[in-house]
Amino acid sequence: MSVINLGLVGVGKIARDQHLPALTESGDFHLVASADPHARHPLIPGHAALDEMLTAHPELEAVAVCTPTSLRYTQARLALEKGKHVLLEKPPGATLSEVEDLMALAERQGRSLFAAWHSRFAPGVADAREWLRERRVERVEIDWKEDVRVWHPGQAWIWEPAGMGVFDPGINALSIVTEILPQAFFLRDARLWVPSNCQAPIAARLDFSDALATPIVADFDFRQPGPPTWSIHVETDRGRLSLAQGGRRLEIAGQCVLDDEEREYPGLYARFAQLIRSGSSDVDLAPLRHVADACLAGWRETTDAFHE
Ligand code: NAP
Repeated sequence: MSVINLGLVGVGKIARDQHLPALTESGDFHLVASADPHARHPLIPGHAALDEMLTAHPELEAVAVCTPTSLRYTQARLALEKGKHVLLEKPPGATLSEVEDLMALAERQGRSLFAAWHSRFAPGVADAREWLRERRVERVEIDWKEDVRVWHPGQAWIWEPAGMGVFDPGINALSIVTEILPQAFFLRDARLWVPSNCQAPIAARLDFSDALATPIVADFDFRQPGPPTWSIHVETDRGRLSLAQGGRRLEIAGQCVLDDEEREYPGLYARFAQLIRSGSSDVDLAPLRHVADACLAGWRETTDAFHE
């Protein structure tokens, strides 16, 4: 199987922490070059912009777009127009309609588009989905809380209109819940706390339910000092399931049944390679749709100004 030549767009925190290590060990991809106005990788050619990278490297077959969310559409569109396969970091776009336009373009171009919900590749997620498949869900509690200063240092874009604020990590929880729950669910009420000097929320409380009025509640908070809480608890007619540490640890009825090494990005790149080789795309809009619903129908409260 031939190796796929890939270019990285945006060499920021997630590219350095996750994409570069995953690409180094990947047998499917060869990292050819990067595009970023300032940051470079010491071992590959670095270009200041995507169009420059695409012109300099016609051998590129795919790109991974890891820039701030507001740039996703323009960059993915350019890459697809140039005939490249595209991996979109999460969230796949700033709006639902721009992602839908990319899906149509990928189809027309005969290229693969992958909305990479990395948390779905956490070790406990597939087993949780399987365990819940035959059970009746009675209540779901999602706690996704972290210190924004630790996890998003200096990222002013996160507070801009398309930055999504606390939904930037919160959408990871929604990507897991929409993957593991057997039933569809809908927003009933949302509270968004927005700092007086920002456009995006620092905390949110979302109340969902399904057709049977099962409560599904989510608390997202960027103001948690100390270690983060990234957990999901599901009460069922036959016991309680918990995913902790972002899906790395799985507990059933209080007993740990899986506590594995975090390897989301190797799994994510294996999936991207599979999509390219099978000529298909994978773009699930459900997590982004829930965030859009919260922004559409939620109550907003202004809270203390945020200063880094
Ligand atoms: P980041 O640290 O701010 O990195 C973004 C990088 O993109 C920066 O180096 C930035 O350069 C660069 N950039 C800006 N404009 C560009 C352009 N026109 N062309 C090419 N590069 C450009 O942000 P991040 O945390 O890596 O997040 C990036 C995306 O990944 C976001 O959508 C985020 O939601 C997602 N994500 C983040 C994490 C995480 O844990 N951090 C996890 C998963 C997904 P400048 O700094 O010079 O502007």
